[in-house]
Amino acid sequence: GRSSDRGTAARQARASQLTVAYVALGGNEGDRLANLERAVSEMAEHVAVTRLSPIYETEPVGFADQPWFLNAVVAVETELSPRALLAVLQEIELSLGKATPFLNGPRTLDLDLLLYGIEVIDELELVVPHPRMHERAFVLRPLADVAGDVVHPTLGKAIRELLSELDDQAEVRAWHGTSTVFPPHAEG
Ligand code: AMP
Repeated sequence: GRSSDRGTAARQARASQLTVAYVALGGNEGDRLANLERAVSEMAEHVAVTRLSPIYETEPVGFADQPWFLNAVVAVETELSPRALLAVLQEIELSLGKATPFLNGPRTLDLDLLLYGIEVIDELELVVPHPRMHERAFVLRPLADVAGDVVHPTLGKAIRELLSELDDQAEVRAWHGTSTVFPPHAEG
């Protein structure tokens, strides 16, 4: 069918060129900034990290009695398959001591593969576009900073548009600490 034709075309394109993928980073335990920065430098050993959003401080969703998160999104360029990229992300989560005591609970570092080119993947272990990304301000805000014009492959809308339509009440605010890795927020 059409969607599998599209998948085949995407796989053939991937064999000869880099795919741009977007990864969300978040954590609310330990040294939150250091964990995000370490994750980026570990990612950079496997893929080209081409753009970084500023960092946001965000209210926990689901289970409120835990520290606020720091969240950001990075763009990467890679020849790795989506599965191989996910494996790299999971290895980094483990190396940073990811501890997830329960669903939506505190965690050292969470890495989610949001988008992988225009590919649509629906496997047991990997769903891309990430199934909840369009419902979450803590994902769409930083994603819009690096990929505002990118069109969500199944919803058919630009990230900026998804953000403006979003009804997520959880607070997402600019984080104004100093990072040597992530860029600052624009003034004003
Ligand atoms: P979490 O602990 O919330 O990060 O969930 C991790 C689980 O989600 C792993 O078992 C992954 O295989 C699965 N998963 C499915 N799709 C994705 C995705 N797009 N990015 C990251 N993890 C994913």
